Amino acid sequence: MKLTHRGRFAPSPSGPLHFGSLVAAVGSYLDARAAGGEWLVRMEDVDTPRNVAGAADGILKTLEVFGFEWDGPVLYQSARIDAYAAALEQLKRAGLAYGCACSRKEIADSATRHAVDGGLTYPGTCRAGLPAGRAERAWRLRVTDEEIAFDDRIQGRQAQHLERDVGDFVLRRADGLFAYQLAVVVDDEFQNISSIVRGADLLASTPRQIWLQRCLNFATPSYAHLPVAANLAGEKLSKQTKAMPLRAEAAASELVQALVFLGQAVPRELAGATVGEVWAWAREGWSFAAIPRRPAIVFAPD
Ligand code: GLU
Repeated sequence: MKLTHRGRFAPSPSGPLHFGSLVAAVGSYLDARAAGGEWLVRMEDVDTPRNVAGAADGILKTLEVFGFEWDGPVLYQSARIDAYAAALEQLKRAGLAYGCACSRKEIADSATRHAVDGGLTYPGTCRAGLPAGRAERAWRLRVTDEEIAFDDRIQGRQAQHLERDVGDFVLRRADGLFAYQLAVVVDDEFQNISSIVRGADLLASTPRQIWLQRCLNFATPSYAHLPVAANLAGEKLSKQTKAMPLRAEAAASELVQALVFLGQAVPRELAGATVGEVWAWAREGWSFAAIPRRPAIVFAPD
């Protein structure tokens, strides 16, 4: 049983932090601190082709300048490959993971439905074994014909039918890298995370993660998905949409903006405050219940 409240912030070092990442950091941090719990930072650098040199150090430096204090050493996913391999072995032994020979094109040609996150629903071609003469490229996890539901602390009850909406999903990719879904589940368990607070862009991934936890006999943490910051075109702020990096020299006002974004009743006097003063207010004034129950909110500063 997990006695301590433990939260985490898990950025991918594919570029500098932007306002959307700050919202996730602030929400998970204050939720953990309000519960008297711990807050860990994990660098999700498992997708090595997407890593940008210097980004991990830059992210930690930014968190420091913004006044975040994390517990324990930062965990790097690049140092955890053996643990992901062991989890995959366990799933193979249990008959839950299977090798898949399909190329992207073959899946695209045969799949009729689109999965929840815009990918393709895997049609199950290699489920019963590799087609004759073909070698495995990736490893997939079997899903079942049932609904996976959970009560999100912000967005309310969520349910997904994995077989229909996603299909058997990838644990190890054709390029040999472990997939985010496997890495995140293995590490949340390893770090004893009890409470996950992150952006609502990951809502649709959560049933896959809960299914993996069940297959690996892990406990399921609680989930809270914060509204994501979107631009005027409705796109999530991200590196792809050219979101502005956070500005160290404006740390206090960016923190205030993140708190306002999260529905907090920030007093006027905090305009012009220092980083320390903003956190002093936030520790007292934080209200989880005030977070808007919406998956996205337009953030368009002038
Ligand atoms: N590394 C993921 C991202 O930056 C977040 C993973 C998570 O919070 O579960 O989008």
